[in-house]
Amino acid sequence: MMILVVNAGSSSLKYQLINMEDESVLAKGNCDRIGIDGHISHKTFDGRTVDADVTFPTHTEAFMKLVEVLTTGDASVLKSMDEISAVGHRIVQGAEVFDRTTLVTDEVIQKIDDLQELAPVHNHPHALALWACKKVIPANVPQVVVFDTAFHQTMPAKAFMFGLPYEDYEKYSVRKYGFHGTSHRFVSAALAEAMGKDIKDLKIVSCHLGNGSSITAVDGGKSVDTSMGFTPLDGILMGTRTGAVDPSAVTFVANKHGFTPSEMSDYMNKKSGFLGISGISSDNRDITAAAQNGDKRAQLAREMLIYQIKKYIGAYAAAMNGLDAVLFTGGIGENSDDVRKEVCENMEFLGLKLDNAANDGVRGQLKKISAADSKVEAWIVPTNEELLIARDTLALVQGL
Ligand code: AMP
Repeated sequence: MMILVVNAGSSSLKYQLINMEDESVLAKGNCDRIGIDGHISHKTFDGRTVDADVTFPTHTEAFMKLVEVLTTGDASVLKSMDEISAVGHRIVQGAEVFDRTTLVTDEVIQKIDDLQELAPVHNHPHALALWACKKVIPANVPQVVVFDTAFHQTMPAKAFMFGLPYEDYEKYSVRKYGFHGTSHRFVSAALAEAMGKDIKDLKIVSCHLGNGSSITAVDGGKSVDTSMGFTPLDGILMGTRTGAVDPSAVTFVANKHGFTPSEMSDYMNKKSGFLGISGISSDNRDITAAAQNGDKRAQLAREMLIYQIKKYIGAYAAAMNGLDAVLFTGGIGENSDDVRKEVCENMEFLGLKLDNAANDGVRGQLKKISAADSKVEAWIVPTNEELLIARDTLALVQGL
C-alpha cells in the first residue's frame, strides 16, 4: 500500500511517497520554481538522489517529472504508478464547506478553487495542482484532500466569531478558521497515546511553534479554540508575521505609509514578526544567537514570543476549564529547549513544572519534559503532517 502525499504551492510541489505497511518514507522531494524555470530535487530512502533543472511551465509538467523520477532511472522506487493506492493532497482552506477529509471529484476541485478569496496564496495553486494530478496520475488512482482548517471546524461560534457586524460572516464568510489543523490533530492524538490516556479525557494546549506558529485548545480530542484566525496572520508573533495587532494600528500604519490594503497585508505577513522587531532575521536560531550576544531588539522579540505563548496557555486552560498537558511541536517547539524552558517558567500556579534535565538539549523526540510532581504534563511531540495525510487518505479509500 503506497500513498503519495502532495503539498502544492503556487510555484512548488512537495511530495512524499509513503509505504503504509510500515509508514516509512520511500522517497521525497520538491518540484520547485514552477512557472519560472524549474528544478527537481528528489531523494530515496536509501540515499539515491536526483537534482536537475527541468522546465516546469505549469504543475502538469512537474507532475509528469515526478512520475518519471518515481518510476524510471537510478532513483526510482516504483515499477509503475499502478503501485500507488491513492494520492493525498494537503489543502490550506476548506472553510465551512469541508469539515473532513474528502474524496476528490471535479466538483470538489471547483469548490476548493471557489474558496480562493479566503486563501489567495494557497487555494488556487492547490486547485491547479489537483487538475494537473488528475491529468497525469492514472484515473483508477483515487485522490483525496486533507484540509488544514477541518480540525478546527468543531470550534463553537463564541470562539470563531469576530465582533464585526454579523452580516460580514453571512455574506463574506469572515470568521476564525484556524490553521495547522493537521498538525494539531496528529500531535494531540500522538500525545494521548504516549500518555496512555483516551484523548476524550484530556485537555491539551498544543503549541505548534515554527516559522508560522499556532496554539490550539484541544478538549476531548476536539479543537475548541485556536490562535490563528481568518488567515494564518493572527495569534502569536511569528518569523515574519505580526500575530495579533490592534486593528486600529493596522489602518493607522497603512495611512502613515500610504499602503494599499494588499501592501499592508504584505507588510504584516512578510516584514513583521521576529524580522520586523529584531531587524535581524525571521529565524529563531538567528534571533536566539543575537539575543545571547546582547542585541536588545532580538531579546525583545524573544520576550514577546515567550510572553504571548504563556498568555495563550493560561487563556486556553481557562477556556477548557482545566489543563492536563501542554505539548510543543514545530521547528521551534521540537528543537528549542530554551523556548520550552522559558514558556514553562513560573507556571507552577497552573500546575505545570518543567524537569529541566529532561528538557535540556532534546531535539525532535517524543518525550515527557515535565517534573514527576507536575500536575500538568509537558511534552515534546514531533509533528508529521504528511503521515497523517497518508493515514487519512488510506482510511478513506479503504472505506470506498
Ligand atoms: P518550521 O517552520 O516548523 O520548519 O520551523 C522553523 C523554525 O524552527 C525556525 O525559526 C528555526 O530557527 C527553528 N529551528 C529549527 N531548528 C532549530 C534548532 N535546532 N534550534 C532552535 N530553533 C530551531
